[in-house]
Amino acid sequence: MSVKVAEEWLNICGGCECSLLDVGEPLLDILSKVEFVHMPVLMDHKYLGQTGEGMKVEVPEADVGLISGGIRTEEDREIAKEMRAKCKVIVAVGSCACFGGVPALANMFLKDEIFEKVYRETKSTVPGEYPCEEVPEWTDRVYALDEVIKVDVQVPGCPPPPSLIVEALTSILENKPFKLEEKAVCEDCPLKREKKAIASIKRPLDKYWPSKDGRCLLELGYLCLGPATRSGCRGDREAPRCIAGGFPCRGCFGPIRKGANLMVDMMGALATIGLNIRSIPDRLATFNRFLGAHNRLRPRRRV
Ligand code: SF4
Ligand code: SF4
Ligand code: SF4
Repeated sequence: MSVKVAEEWLNICGGCECSLLDVGEPLLDILSKVEFVHMPVLMDHKYLGQTGEGMKVEVPEADVGLISGGIRTEEDREIAKEMRAKCKVIVAVGSCACFGGVPALANMFLKDEIFEKVYRETKSTVPGEYPCEEVPEWTDRVYALDEVIKVDVQVPGCPPPPSLIVEALTSILENKPFKLEEKAVCEDCPLKREKKAIASIKRPLDKYWPSKDGRCLLELGYLCLGPATRSGCRGDREAPRCIAGGFPCRGCFGPIRKGANLMVDMMGALATIGLNIRSIPDRLATFNRFLGAHNRLRPRRRV
């Protein structure tokens, strides 16, 4: 008998779904064992019944529920709760679901500040009213999934590598525990750290990364969060995903251990090369780029 899988996307960009659909050949092995009963990115599904007659959001029952995205609207909250009620196991897919992700940078601002900026102040906008009809109401801030419903398995990454999604799904199908690595991205990185002091951090695109000489990007002056970020994105590449592309790690896998503070852990790494964390511009957002839920980022000023 096949395992029923439901997939939902909440406050997302769609990248996690691309990762899911990019699983490739391993998906063929899994497909014979699973039946997708709900997946809005691929299948039409009317939450309120075929003619909109329902009064409450409904999704089909499933053994496994994959959810990407955090909670930004009351509709997201309702769908997340319905998924929890209908699925035996809930998997948070991607950094938005696990930590709030990039959308949770908005937690640094009040809702009215955001609406004012987006609908009235930007140069390309004709100032107008805030949309309020037939759009879901915003929650007071962006929440990670586990702040709203119980989450059984987390698969971080922005987006998570397809291989990690397969590993998580396979573990669930085989009734085995799925465990994330508890080591830093640096431990998977072939670039050399010499702990030599540097004077300052360069802007990310100051020049093309001279990665061919094998020197650590952080020690070349490019802010790399590898020392404080959980490994797991490398897969079968020679280096972690961003490093392989010539870019420093931005921390999308979150802290190395659950409950750790990536910014605090980076303080130590920066100290080894003679840098004070206070010299990093906009450091709260920089170190919490993917981690703004769980009250890590809050409005800077209140009205
Ligand atoms: S984790 Fe990244 S790829 Fe996935 S929905 Fe969020 S922003 Fe998009
Ligand atoms: S800081 Fe970045 S570039 Fe340097 S070793 Fe760690 S992951 Fe590699
Ligand atoms: S190198 Fe860092 S930012 Fe890039 S995919 Fe890996 S964990 Fe995410």
